[in-house]
Amino acid sequence: MSWHTKTIKEISTSLQAKEISSQELATYFLQRISATADLNAFVDLNEEQTMREAKLADEQLANGNKSLLMGIPVAHKDVFVTKHWKTTAGSKILTNYLSPFDAHVVAELSGAGMVCLGKVNMDEFAMGSTNESSYAGVAKNPWAIDRVPGGSSGGSAIAVAAGLSPAATGTDTGGSIRQPASLCGITGIKPTYGKVSRFGMIAYASSLDQAGPMAKTAEDCAIMLNVMAGHDAKDSTSLNKAKEDYTKNLGKTWTGEAGLPLKGLRVGLPKEYFGDGLSSEVRQAVEAAVDQFKKMGAECVPVTLPKTELSIPVYYVIAPAEASSNLSRFDGVRYGRRADKYDDLLDMYKRSRSEGFGAEVKRRIMIGTYVLSHGYYDAYYLKAQRIRRIIAQDFQNAFESCDIIAGPVAPTVAGKIGEKVSDPTQMYLEDIYTLSPNLAGLPAMSMPCGFGDNQMPVGIQLIGNYFSEAQLLQVAHAYQLETDWHKAQSPFSKKGGL
Ligand code: GLN
Repeated sequence: MSWHTKTIKEISTSLQAKEISSQELATYFLQRISATADLNAFVDLNEEQTMREAKLADEQLANGNKSLLMGIPVAHKDVFVTKHWKTTAGSKILTNYLSPFDAHVVAELSGAGMVCLGKVNMDEFAMGSTNESSYAGVAKNPWAIDRVPGGSSGGSAIAVAAGLSPAATGTDTGGSIRQPASLCGITGIKPTYGKVSRFGMIAYASSLDQAGPMAKTAEDCAIMLNVMAGHDAKDSTSLNKAKEDYTKNLGKTWTGEAGLPLKGLRVGLPKEYFGDGLSSEVRQAVEAAVDQFKKMGAECVPVTLPKTELSIPVYYVIAPAEASSNLSRFDGVRYGRRADKYDDLLDMYKRSRSEGFGAEVKRRIMIGTYVLSHGYYDAYYLKAQRIRRIIAQDFQNAFESCDIIAGPVAPTVAGKIGEKVSDPTQMYLEDIYTLSPNLAGLPAMSMPCGFGDNQMPVGIQLIGNYFSEAQLLQVAHAYQLETDWHKAQSPFSKKGGL
């Protein structure tokens, strides 16, 4: 049986019907992981612990536990701290770090019965769009191994796209769930800021960071989000709202009445998302998806997000500013490996940090401390905060004439490894369509909608207003019922039992 081509929903049905056990599933996926080590998706495994968790899940299943996630394997981005796996956040400075507790997201998913397969590769401290800044080395796109998987949740996207895990967790500060999901041909959602607790998620830019699920389908994402989201007193920015069922709208028409599934839905198309800089291969796939929405009854309306271009300088001031503060704890004393040789305390800090951090992280710490410094704070940081406010308002203006916004996730398909790494500003431009939802705190998702040149996957981005996750997933699910893009298998997934 090709378990790796199945969704959470399908595997769960088989687990409940006793067609397979959680332990057999865990063994199956662990074998696939070891056979595809050259993808460099996983950075830490603990097979004993995985099998222990699977055994517990089997006991629960035998006792009649009906949780949809009971016994389902999952891979965690290495930014979530874990008791039984090392947590490095892709950085040398956290070499061999073992947390005394599990992150909230990890604990919740494990409480619902998910079995952790291991930790997956990512850009160092989630800074990057290609997974190339990882201390564990670049991870490879299972659609073409000379190409990047996207970042920063590159390992998570690979795990799902190569059939190494039915699902993964990711985090998204400026696109890190949506962009790798798009580049690897899977589905992922970044919820409204504050929906998912950041407790135990190593901080990059705290006012932007948000965790979310990555899986094959919108339905699987909804099932996972049901468990991941919810108030947590341990995160002061966690929203105090009642738990919600994100699967509640799946399969329903937009109006709730019989007829075309998306009749009555107004899809906003921001002109700034379809202008210069968008490659024709991505444009074609995204426009075809929009046509499909129309066939399903949706109406398209032009909208404008006039400050889209400014999202890049605004984000690349605010995110590094917060990062420079968050990363001060890695000093060789509170956290992080200490340099072997040093003269005095200051020298120890200096050497530990210069040896432990990679080039991109250092660049951002320097930018961050610069924009926060006394003489430049007003000119950069304060100004960026003001424009951030306008960007959020622009979305509210757009949502007056539409229900959701659709557009590309990234301007191009996955690039070649090494292509962008030496030119950071070029890399930052890749984030043009994904940064604004984070700056505004809005939910946004990516799902497969076609292929560009060389059979590389393309995703479409759907952005909703605050707390509209259930609606976004409803639209995505309706689309996935009518199309097969999410079922396309990467060459690595096609390699059957391996
Ligand atoms: N590419 C963006 C950055 O480098 C976003 C990363 C993320 O969402 N974690 O900051």
